[in-house]
This record gives sequence, C-alpha cells and structure tokens, in this order.
Amino acid sequence: MLILNCPYCGVDAEESELSAGGEAHIKRHGPGSSEDEFHDYLFTRENPKGVHFERWRHSNGCGKWFHAARCTNTLEVFGTYPAQTTEPPKQIRDAITAKRPGWSWREFS
Ligand SMILES: [Zn+2]
Repeated sequence: MLILNCPYCGVDAEESELSAGGEAHIKRHGPGSSEDEFHDYLFTRENPKGVHFERWRHSNGCGKWFHAARCTNTLEVFGTYPAQTTEPPKQIRDAITAKRPGWSWREFS
C-alpha cells in the first residue's frame, strides 16, 4: 500500500485517504502559445518506469494538494512537498540522485 506523508498536516496518509491528481510540474502555456504547446499541455505525460513526480490530494484529511516524488517501479517514496513549488526541493533531488546515480528528468539534474 502506498503511504505518503502530507507536508501540510504531517500525517502519514494511506492511499485510501488520498486522491491522485496526475503528473506534477506540467508546464502551462498562456495566450499566444502554439498549438503544439497547448497539445502537449493537454495530452503529453511522462509515464516513466522509475522516478516520477505526482500530484496528490489529502482528500480524507486536510484536503490540500501536494507533490510526491516516488519510483513507479519499486513504489519507493523519495519525499513530498507543497504543490506551490515549481520544481522539486533540492533535498528531494539529492535523495533521488543518492539512490539513482545518473538520474535526470527534464531540467532537473
Ligand atoms: Zn494533510
């Protein structure tokens, strides 16, 4: 069972207390963007076998949205952080790099 720590209320929430919200850190494009950018925003997702960043809502708890970094292959959770951040915090990126040397995704390293 997936257990994620809510970064707002500090509860270790079981999967039944959470609602999945899809991929995190999707780049949104404003007016004047191309059709390809808008298409990617609507339809293109990573879906990796490995490290992934996801949006979750503590729906049966405090109700707030947060992000989680985890491995889709092993279900290992690297950390959770508030949804208002535009990229994963350095300590989470360092934790991933320590366990997955050579790992990189998008503009993160
Ligand atoms: Zn919470």
